[in-house]
Amino acid sequence: MTTDDRAPCTAAEALARLKDGNARFVGGRGRFHTLQADVLADLARGQQPYATILGCSDSRVPPELVFDAGFGDLFVIRVAGNVLGSAIAGTLQYAKAHLHTPLFVVLGHGGCGAVKAAIGSKFHGAEHRSRIATLLESIVPALDGLDPGLPPEQLLDAAVEANVRLTLRRLLESPEATARGMQAGVELVGAVYDLDTRRVRFLA
Ligand SMILES: [Zn+2]
Repeated sequence: MTTDDRAPCTAAEALARLKDGNARFVGGRGRFHTLQADVLADLARGQQPYATILGCSDSRVPPELVFDAGFGDLFVIRVAGNVLGSAIAGTLQYAKAHLHTPLFVVLGHGGCGAVKAAIGSKFHGAEHRSRIATLLESIVPALDGLDPGLPPEQLLDAAVEANVRLTLRRLLESPEATARGMQAGVELVGAVYDLDTRRVRFLA
């Protein structure tokens, strides 16, 4: 990695970098990031990540590895079910106002346990401890309109995508976004990581 890799870029360039990184990852050509003293010393003076990622806490979906990104590349928030909450909204606002990342990605993934639990809660009356129940309440509205009669795996896939889209909608409808609009050069996209193929599918 050179210093140029961390230069400012457009949302489209940032998205292309994520896609290229994931393609390297999928193709087994990922770069292992060794600790390069000069790069770390440079980063110690400040950060200029090219994308902000709101992903799930699931241990199988570390954004830096999935996108083959290095130190200082991604500003990452991870919370079960990639839901929005006040602290998360504040972190995103910080990324936008102070770090000026051109791209924001909401990253869901196949087999998400939080989404699965929300399905259990909505369609099967499953009960959960209070804090988990509160978390699931953020996901349950995403399940409106889904057919509970679908085969479980198909229902989960549909729910994962619907949950990403709900978080995107909530972000776009937040007072910060609607008051000022998404600034020029800033993009918000949804994506789903497939555990089997290791591919990230960006939602249209
Ligand atoms: Zn998950």
